[in-house]
Amino acid sequence: MSLHIKHLVVIGIGLIGGSVALALRRAGCVGRITGVGRSVENLEEAVRLGVIDDFSHDIATAVADADMVLLAVPVAACDQVFAALAKSLPDKAVVTDAGSTKQSVMASAEKYLRDASRFVPAHPIAGTEYSGAAAAFAELFDDKKCILTPNEKTDVKALARVQSMWEAVGSRVKIMSAAEHDDVLAAVSHLPHLAAFAIVNAVGKGDAAFRFAAGGFRDFTRIASSSPEMWRDIALCNQSAIVDKIDALQEELSALRDALKAHDGDALLDKFTSAKQARDIWMSKYGDKL
Ligand code: NAP
Repeated sequence: MSLHIKHLVVIGIGLIGGSVALALRRAGCVGRITGVGRSVENLEEAVRLGVIDDFSHDIATAVADADMVLLAVPVAACDQVFAALAKSLPDKAVVTDAGSTKQSVMASAEKYLRDASRFVPAHPIAGTEYSGAAAAFAELFDDKKCILTPNEKTDVKALARVQSMWEAVGSRVKIMSAAEHDDVLAAVSHLPHLAAFAIVNAVGKGDAAFRFAAGGFRDFTRIASSSPEMWRDIALCNQSAIVDKIDALQEELSALRDALKAHDGDALLDKFTSAKQARDIWMSKYGDKL
């Protein structure tokens, strides 16, 4: 499907929204790009960097002439954003998002949009720990997966258009249900982020330990520098799946603790060996695509 977006409105001009805008410009398939956000400094910076053409603080006004709308705000803000854009969204417009949780965002769309069939939920599996328009770059999605979670009500033409948009920014589109998405992402993304926050807090309660931390600590905790606001929202919007994964982690930690207290080297070796094998297989299969 050849894609041309006449007027794209991106609500939330941060790392993800800004990078989509830059990547669509690179692909040459977008006309005007309007950004919407709260802070004028971030939006002015986005204009200066060529990420957007113009901006507004008013969602309803901004989307009145849009043919494509992208929500790239923290997931808990989606409720309020859908409520605002529903007032003036043209019938022909297609809406997508980039949120890290899918069931919660779909529930918001269902609640506020006149026609939720033209909302095609998406989650690009690409990112960094940096935030704001200045962090955006056109190559962010190149050869990275983007998961779409349409349901039985999703309009097939809207789905095709949104799939084309995410392919135009460089990503490889995969389709799955929102429930499966939220469960899988709770395991491979949300739990590691919470674990990284917890490790830094646990070490930070000590005194001079940070002075001796080196590459291993840096690699393990890189994602603890991510936006706290964004991660609060992800945690709350995917609460039950994440609680399950925390329980599984606590069981693993308890098993290690028990083995250590019992000086059971064989049990420790079993745990470390099975983890090393699983990670080595994953890296050899997928490592060059990360
Ligand atoms: P970000 O860099 O912090 O950008 C979010 C932007 O949204 C900010 O520039 C903020 O600007 C704006 N914003 C926040 N609340 C808003 C509201 N109520 N109305 C309008 N604008 C609002 O975050 P991001 O990394 O781009 O993340 C955006 C979305 O993508 C999130 O849903 C996240 O879950 C998802 N995601 C993130 C990653 C990642 O690695 N970072 C990866 C995949 C998906 P103002 O404060 O100026 O309003």
